[in-house]
Parts: sequence; C-alpha cells; structure tokens
Amino acid sequence: MKDIMPTGGQFTMMTLPYDALGETISKQTLSFHHGKHLKAYVDNLNKMLPGSGLEGLSLQDVVRHAQDGLFNNAGQVLNHTMYFEQFSTAPHAMGERMKTLLERDFGSVEAFQKEFEQKGATLFGSGWVWLSADKDGHLVITQQRNAENPVTDGLQTLLTFDVWEHAYYLDYQNRRADYLAALWQIVDWAVVENRL
Ligand code: MN
Repeated sequence: MKDIMPTGGQFTMMTLPYDALGETISKQTLSFHHGKHLKAYVDNLNKMLPGSGLEGLSLQDVVRHAQDGLFNNAGQVLNHTMYFEQFSTAPHAMGERMKTLLERDFGSVEAFQKEFEQKGATLFGSGWVWLSADKDGHLVITQQRNAENPVTDGLQTLLTFDVWEHAYYLDYQNRRADYLAALWQIVDWAVVENRL
C-alpha cells in the first residue's frame, strides 16, 4: 500500500466509507472499533511522535523504527487502516492475478482461506493474521502479536484480519472462528490486489 504521510506533523484518522458491513460486522462494533479503539491509537501516536526523532516519516517508517509505546500505537494505526480499507458493502470479487498467485503458493483459494482462518483462530491472545508477499513475490501467511506488522520483516502486506477481541466480541462473543470465516464475504479483492 501507499506510504501514509503526516500532515502538519500529525497523522489523521481515516474515515470509514461505511457504517455497517451487512450481517458480518455491526454498526455497534464499528462504532467502538473505529470511533473509540482506532481513535485512541491515533491520538496516542500524535502525542508520542514529537521529540521521538521520527517526525515527518511515513507511518510505515515510524512502525519500522519505533519502540515500545510509540511502536504499539503507530502499528495499531497502520494495522487498522489496512483492515478497515479492505472491506466493502459491495466488494469486488477476486481477480485472476490474485487467484493465480494463491493457487501457486497454497494449492487453491480454498486451501489458502482455510490456512488463513486456522492461523487467525490459533493465535493466542491479541494480534493479527496477515497475507504478505516476500522479496521474491511469494505469498506467505504470518501470525503477528499485539501491534506487530510484517513491514518490520521486509514483507509487503496485502490482507489482514484483526483477532483482538474488540474486533468481534459484540457480534460473535467468543466465536472467533465464526468471525474469521464470515469476513471473506466483505473483503474487497480490488483493494487487496492494488497492494501487490
Ligand atoms: Mn482492532
């Protein structure tokens, strides 16, 4: 995805192009997840950035170089921006390019989805499951804890599912696997493919 740059030394919060995502994610979940959780990460990032030595860098570069609290808040702003941007109430279907890559690296689209869901469901505690491209263009699935993002390992990030409880508890309670399986219905593959 494109580098996210600060304006006047501050990162701005992304606006959501939807207020609910059908039966998959409710308006109530989005209002807390975007309006409270993401807002707190953006506010904390903007408070911690001055004096850090990382002012003026892209959000991706802040994540690559920051430590501790600044890393956690910058990482969560980047992770949530990618998460919310990749969903749509009228999602584009997967194109041939992505289908060909997933078949090459996972055997089939279904096998990819199964492994992605399984890695999301088995991540202990809070974190994210990611699809990324490595330096050779091979697609890989990784589990990342807390605020981690694969950009710190030199990967190009394509798709992510948030498995922090705040992402699903109001709609799915403890049924994380059901939440993960339902998310495929709202993934806009045109957005994901633009990140290639
Ligand atoms: Mn979240």
